[in-house]
Amino acid sequence: MEITLALLKPHVLRNTFALNQIKTLIGNNFEVLEAKEVQITKELSERFYAEHKGKFFYHRLTSFMNSGPCYALILQAEAGIQKWRQLMGPTKVFQAVYTEPQSIRGMYGLSDTRNACHGSDSKASALREISIIFPEYNME
Ligand code: ATP
Ligand code: MG
Repeated sequence: MEITLALLKPHVLRNTFALNQIKTLIGNNFEVLEAKEVQITKELSERFYAEHKGKFFYHRLTSFMNSGPCYALILQAEAGIQKWRQLMGPTKVFQAVYTEPQSIRGMYGLSDTRNACHGSDSKASALREISIIFPEYNME
């Protein structure tokens, strides 16, 4: 069993239909260990996306993540990291729309930055990201 951190980005929270669809999809595929609405501060989003510091989209991305509440979840499943990334679809929205139109990003992505969701890319990132977004969560 593997755990991963999923974030639904601010514009998704403003779309009740999208939010309910994605929550149902998650419920059908994962055990939800924790879930909460969270306002990510600018400082927290800069820490969260530290690996992208210096890239042209860094300020745009960290500001967007701070623009309204996100919905954060700790998900568990067999090969959960890959499973969630599969459901999200490609990072870039044009790719998501053309190659995986039924993925979350294919359906609800608005731009490469506002691409609807986030998922950890490795076990190490999952632990790091959970400790940032769910500092209260006890990982044993
Ligand atoms: P995430 O880390 O959010 O799951 P990812 O691992 O598919 O997405 P990364 O390369 O880690 O993609 O980029 C992190 C985030 O930065 C992306 O989800 C997206 O919001 C933003 N981003 C990545 N590339 C671009 C780009 N070329 N232009 C604008 N924003 C981008
Ligand atoms: Mg990433």
